[in-house]
Amino acid sequence: MIAIYPGSFDPITLGHLDIIQRGSRLFDEVIVAVLRNPNKVPLFSVPQRLEQIRLATKHLSNVEVDSFDGLTVNYAQQRKAQVILRGLRAISDFEVELQMAHTNKTLSTQIETVFLATSNEYSFLSSSVVKEIARFGGSVDHLVPPLIALDIYKCYNHKYPIATPIATEAIPQITSTESPPERFPKQEV
Ligand code: ADP
Repeated sequence: MIAIYPGSFDPITLGHLDIIQRGSRLFDEVIVAVLRNPNKVPLFSVPQRLEQIRLATKHLSNVEVDSFDGLTVNYAQQRKAQVILRGLRAISDFEVELQMAHTNKTLSTQIETVFLATSNEYSFLSSSVVKEIARFGGSVDHLVPPLIALDIYKCYNHKYPIATPIATEAIPQITSTESPPERFPKQEV
């Protein structure tokens, strides 16, 4: 059974990644599908997001990354997917997601929407929260895969986060020629 996991992923967070990992254990194939939405001004372009998701999911052999526009059900049919996978964080998600699932059902009775409840530790996490923290100089190291955190700092012109929400120790000043401090994990995502 093929599932598509559609969304903006601007950028992909550990909450998204958790849904993808759990989905990849339930379905034969999961297609992470980035919506090309001309009405939104994103932080990252679609090609950048595709690359970020590919790097973050490269350890999952049955996960493919793609982009689409138009109706999700049309894309699902085109990809021969039977399932639209979505994540649920809070009651507010539930209302919107239920409406979307019902609407999609009126467009195609063949495609089921399957919801995975968020893992506890990611119930507060969204791409917007990540961008808001980074914009004001906070650390997002604990919210997104390491390489994506670096991309985000670059976007907001931070060499490294000014403040972390957990440790508030003073960070020494470094110039642009110095290497980043040890806090950046060296491993790939
Ligand atoms: P959209 O712009 O369609 O909301 P997102 O990229 O924000 O797309 O999210 C895609 C899907 O991932 C949605 O179903 C959303 O509810 C789910 N999701 C986002 N963040 C989390 C999280 N922290 N835990 C579980 N599901 C999440």
